[in-house]
Formats: sequence, C-alpha cells, structure tokens
Amino acid sequence: MFKCKNCGAPVGEDYEVCLRCGEPVTESDKQSAARSNILKKLGKYKQLLTENEELESLIKPQSSFPNSAEKNYKSRSFIKYFWPFMIAAPIIGYIIYVGGTLLAAMSIAMDATVETTSQAMGIFMIPIVLIVLAIIVAGVIIFVGIRISRRKQNEFNSNAERMNRESAEKYQQGLRNQELVNMYQDNINKMHPYITLVPEKYRSADSVGKIMELIQDEKAENVEEACALIGD
Ligand SMILES: [Zn+2]
Repeated sequence: MFKCKNCGAPVGEDYEVCLRCGEPVTESDKQSAARSNILKKLGKYKQLLTENEELESLIKPQSSFPNSAEKNYKSRSFIKYFWPFMIAAPIIGYIIYVGGTLLAAMSIAMDATVETTSQAMGIFMIPIVLIVLAIIVAGVIIFVGIRISRRKQNEFNSNAERMNRESAEKYQQGLRNQELVNMYQDNINKMHPYITLVPEKYRSADSVGKIMELIQDEKAENVEEACALIGD
C-alpha cells in the first residue's frame, strides 16, 4: 500500500488508478512507493543498529559490579588498637617497681651500713620514687598508646569508609549498566521485524547506511542490488 500522489488516498500495489480520484498509477509511482517504504524500514533498522553499536562500547560485563549496596567494610573500635598498651602499661609499671625494689634491696644488703639519717631517709624514699617512676612510665605508655591507637583507628576507618563509598558508587554504576543492557536487549527485540531485510554480513549501521544511500540515489532498486554494489 502507498498513497495516491494526487489525493493521498491509499492505493494498492496492484491498482491501475486511484479509486478515489482516478489518478493513473504509473510504474514509477509504484517504484518510488516501494523505495520509500524500504527506506523507512531501513532507516528504523539503522537507528536501532546505531544505538546498539554505541551501547556495546558502553556496556561492561555485569559481573564486574557488586550485586548489593551493603557496606562490606566494617569500621574498627579504638580498643582494638589500644588494648596492648592498656595491658603493657601496668605490667611495665609493676616491673619497674618490683625490679627497682629488688635492686635497691640487693644494693643495701651488699652495703649493709646505714649510718646517717639522710641515708635512712634515702632508703625510705626508694619505694616512693619507684612508684612515681612506675606511674610516669605507665602514663607515658597510655598517652602514646592513645595517640597511636587513635591515628591507626582513624586511618583504618576512613579507608573503610572510602572503600564502602567506592563500592556503593560501583553498585550504582552497575544499576546504570543494567539499564544499558536492558536497552540493548530491547533494541534487539525491536530489530526483529527488520533483520531479514538485510543479509547477515551487512547488518551494521554503516552498511545499512550505505544501502540506504544507494537506494535513495536510485543507484540501486532494492537491498539486493545495493549489497551487490557494495560488495565485500
Ligand atoms: Zn487519488
């Protein structure tokens, strides 16, 4: 079916005249109708092929994206880094106190004369000095431990946060990729009515474009002729 060039009424391929206005239907009318008909179909096909060729260059394998948005990287608590310092501080403090006391006791035992008041005061001061020293050392260990643990915890957690963010972004990219895959599949389905118009090796936007040009310029009557002109 095509339209009468005079009145626009539908005209069958086998009509001699237009049934509405009586305009004679010539062979060239039929040819140009057939040409515009095939060009319309090829145009639609080419558009779908072009879209899918573009999609092919954008689509990545869906397996390269995470299939859930869940946070895989858990943050760590402060105590995870701090506990060795927490244990070390009192132990080292205790070792200083006990070890110092033993050393002092040994040196007093070797030199067993306590003659003056100041010497007696000295002996009395030893445990106090040792306790103060032990507390200072333990305090320094705690202080340094807090700083190191906090730094390591922050480092780890900001890393985990970054990786979670990246994986969430990848998941979003995966969703977009899936949309492209769906569009691609959709186009494949839409191509179905047109696919047999063109022999297999010419089923690309470029080849269909060339075929259309040849038909448009009336260098070829139909797809077969156009393909023969294009060659391999
Ligand atoms: Zn007519």
